[in-house]
Amino acid sequence: MVDKQKLLDELKEEIIRAKLPLSESATNLVFGKGSPSAEIMFIGESPGHNEDIQGVPFVGAAGKNLDKLLVAVGLSLDDVYITNILKYRPPENREPNDNEIRTHTPWLMKQIREMKPKVICSLGNHATKFFLAKCNPDEMDKQPGITNVHGKIKIIEIDGMKIKLIPLFHPAAIIYNQKLKVEWEKDMIIVKHELTQKTLRV
Ligand code: URA
Repeated sequence: MVDKQKLLDELKEEIIRAKLPLSESATNLVFGKGSPSAEIMFIGESPGHNEDIQGVPFVGAAGKNLDKLLVAVGLSLDDVYITNILKYRPPENREPNDNEIRTHTPWLMKQIREMKPKVICSLGNHATKFFLAKCNPDEMDKQPGITNVHGKIKIIEIDGMKIKLIPLFHPAAIIYNQKLKVEWEKDMIIVKHELTQKTLRV
């Protein structure tokens, strides 16, 4: 049996050696957390201050919301794997630029190839546009925004693997926005429904 944890550990070392853009200004690589055998991946945008300090994704305020989401659908870190499209924090949490997205996302793709998820929940605009663009950063601008596509399941293909994409609002966006919170709760029902299907594989 393939030792996914070992493969992920090796990949993490490779990323450190690759000295990606932003690695100089960041404190730590923020690689991923959760179970290496998970069938569901949650993919956010880029690490923030707390994530940078701890080297772990979604540990700040947005992470607390994500934790609530997981509990609401009956999941824990034993069932999911959580990561970001960017592996290092952009200074002052600014938006990632095109070059950063282009150089970081091949590593996300490697992570996905090792994980072989059946479902990807993309969190927010950047992650969602990346997958809708068939993982081609150059096509991201042409994709619809999260407001139009949240909660709408789409089948995507990565290296011949058919994966269910469930776009969700970013957990940081709902902190102060009651309207989005209502939408988010409705989307949770969709996620929950998908997860109760006998087989997650498309
Ligand atoms: N926002 C993200 O997109 N990712 C994190 O890890 C934290 C906040």
